[in-house]
Amino acid sequence: MRSRPIGLLLSTLAGAVLAFGGTTAASASPAPAPAPGSVPSGDVGAADGCYTWSGTLQEGSSGEAVRQLQIRVAGYPGTGNQIAIDGAFGPATKAAVSRFQSAYGLAADGIAGPATFNKIYQLQDDDCTPVNFTYAELNRCNSDWSGGKVSAATARANALVTMWKLQAMRHAMGDRPMTVNGGFRSVSCNSAVGGAANSRHMYGHAADLGAGSQGFCALAQAARNHGFTEILGPGYPGHNDHTHVAGGSGRFWSAPSCGI
Ligand SMILES: [Zn+2]
Repeated sequence: MRSRPIGLLLSTLAGAVLAFGGTTAASASPAPAPAPGSVPSGDVGAADGCYTWSGTLQEGSSGEAVRQLQIRVAGYPGTGNQIAIDGAFGPATKAAVSRFQSAYGLAADGIAGPATFNKIYQLQDDDCTPVNFTYAELNRCNSDWSGGKVSAATARANALVTMWKLQAMRHAMGDRPMTVNGGFRSVSCNSAVGGAANSRHMYGHAADLGAGSQGFCALAQAARNHGFTEILGPGYPGHNDHTHVAGGSGRFWSAPSCGI
């Protein structure tokens, strides 16, 4: 969520103007700081505790700001697709931004500007996770994301993308709570639960969902629209009691009892 260091900046500037303006007595003290949580008028570029964008991003833009945006809109790739998190703003990213904008009632022009960024700020916590999901939910195996098939940093980064996909799916399903029973597994955690030898849980890409109020089949069906290339649910061996969703390369969907 947003924080507002800009308020401090403005009050500091006001003090500097008073000190050097020449028309005010030397004893003038700086203007009082705004009350905590207040927003100075003219605060057009809200700062955020996780990541703050400036300006606009559009097709042709590139770099870390684009990569950060791609993580946030990873849940809007269109049915059966997945967008690259590569810092290159191409047609697929533009389409994802447009879908995100539509989902939240913003003008859907595929250009990420203040309205889009402000919506993202509302949706994210200071650790960059979406407000309705946590790293702890996505890792019930260990505390440091180590021991998987990729580095701890990569596993954690993959889990962040997974959470933004879940946030998109949650919103599309009416913003009702979703139940996440696990995500990342080290190789040993995966073995302990009898996971597949190539399980995407060991990469941080996967999440296992409880039925919640949605039901396993509705979750599996919705997951197809939000960047999950692997969906396993009722009717697939071992998946009658949860719906497994994951990103990563290669599509495999199977939930025969749900028509998938
Ligand atoms: Zn799973």
